Amino acid sequence: MPHRPVLRFAPSPNGFLHLGHAYSALLNQRHAADLDGRLLLRLEDIDTTRCKPEYEAAIYRDLSWIGLEWEEPVRRQSDHFDAYADALRQLDAMGLIRRSVASRREIREAAARASAEGRPWPRDPDGAPLFGGDEVILDPTEIRRRRREEPQALRLDTKAALARLGDAPRWLETGAGHRQEIVADPLVWGDVVLARKETPTSYHLSVVVDDALQGVSHVVRGRDLLQATAIHRLLQELLRLPAPEYHHHRLILDESGRKLSKSAASTGLAELRKTGATPEDIRNLVALADDKAADTPFSA
Ligand code: GLU
Repeated sequence: MPHRPVLRFAPSPNGFLHLGHAYSALLNQRHAADLDGRLLLRLEDIDTTRCKPEYEAAIYRDLSWIGLEWEEPVRRQSDHFDAYADALRQLDAMGLIRRSVASRREIREAAARASAEGRPWPRDPDGAPLFGGDEVILDPTEIRRRRREEPQALRLDTKAALARLGDAPRWLETGAGHRQEIVADPLVWGDVVLARKETPTSYHLSVVVDDALQGVSHVVRGRDLLQATAIHRLLQELLRLPAPEYHHHRLILDESGRKLSKSAASTGLAELRKTGATPEDIRNLVALADDKAADTPFSA
């Protein structure tokens, strides 16, 4: 019997869920039903300082309320740091890991100084300044001191990684309303962090390891992660993990056209429930029924 498709909704318990999460979760549910697939829930809680048990409890409450059903057990990423460490070791053994000591703030400040002096600093698709090497930012004595005394961040040497593969990875994308093959351009992200001083993994690394371990065949998530897929595909190729099919859906925006934030109460699911909204109202608010054409899977 062929394997059933596997989908997952993967929120981070670092705030309360809002309409944007409801849309993503319900769309995952609809795709799973259309494909006769399974739906998993994964808690992406690698940032143990920002993730809290009360947010996790609220995730279960809010998702049950809107009618989501998922398979148990729920995978909690903080229980699996060893799996991510193992993937990191493999990349290190390939010579693709670069160590760095400059902090995010120092990179930001150096970029701001350069821009102020009329030397624009390259930025990643999310607008964060790229890391060009510790030596661009810090003096050699300080670099040596930190390398001796402090834990270091581990970054992917993206150029070397791509060179090792030869060909740029590709992926199947259905988010634009038709099936298309996208050629990944991971270089736009520079040498992404795969593990930080304070967190032994990163979003990119753990999402790729988990999607493979959980047999995820269809990733349905927001368009804000479309470009990050280039890094995910690169890591999958390096680690010889299967490539899921991707569907990056439209984002739910506020009245001024901005992405919803976890701190804006007016679009929070718990808040809406308190003011008398029903699960049906939530479906209407995110216009789930209206976008059958654009947000439909194409591999059924
Ligand atoms: N945990 C991510 C978020 O909350 C989603 C990751 C994914 O779907 O790949 O934005």
